[in-house]
Amino acid sequence: MTQKGLPIIISAPSGTGKTTTCKRLIQEMPDLRIATSHTTRTIREGETNGTDYFFISKKEFETKRDNKDFLEWAQVHTEYYGTSFESLETLHQEGYDILLELDVQGVDSLRNIKYDGVYIFILPPSIEEMTKRLRIRGTETEESIERRVNTGKEEIKKYKKYDYVITNFNVEETVKLILAIVHAEKSRVYRYTPTSNDIKELLG
Ligand code: 5GP
Repeated sequence: MTQKGLPIIISAPSGTGKTTTCKRLIQEMPDLRIATSHTTRTIREGETNGTDYFFISKKEFETKRDNKDFLEWAQVHTEYYGTSFESLETLHQEGYDILLELDVQGVDSLRNIKYDGVYIFILPPSIEEMTKRLRIRGTETEESIERRVNTGKEEIKKYKKYDYVITNFNVEETVKLILAIVHAEKSRVYRYTPTSNDIKELLG
């Protein structure tokens, strides 16, 4: 692979279907890799350490943070989350498209350093639906659901930080829209990489 990959930054309030959407996206885009984040939250049933996240202690996280190992980090709900330079480096070098699942604070940090990529916000059809999905998921306590809903409401107000907003009525439609966005973004003039020397010469 020689072409530079496209970072795809996706955020969504908890209970919007982001994880399912991202899993489907990975199936549809063979050159897409997830940048595995570090987190201090406890591992959920069905998750794998090193794949879904690197699950580490608060002390380990703080050491990494103080060593400036993170491109960005944030405290979400009561836990830390961060994207390490290490998890991105090889993916960047090998030209993969990179999927970063971040909260709004992470997006703020990346916007501040003008990190190039396409920023997509996925929204639930309604707050009611979002709350319902969190209950059905059954991974959170009632207190945690309430906290996630409140955080979600605050996040939704920040939608202007993104390039695109998609309402997730159904995963397949959402994935189709993301694919369309990615194709368009990759065709932007400033991202064009000549595919041959003769064209490269013409462009100067
Ligand atoms: P969850 O605990 O449900 O997996 O994730 C909670 C929130 O943290 C989600 O909004 C998710 O996108 C966000 N998140 C996951 N990894 C990172 C990260 O590396 N950085 C930031 N800023 N947010 C993250």
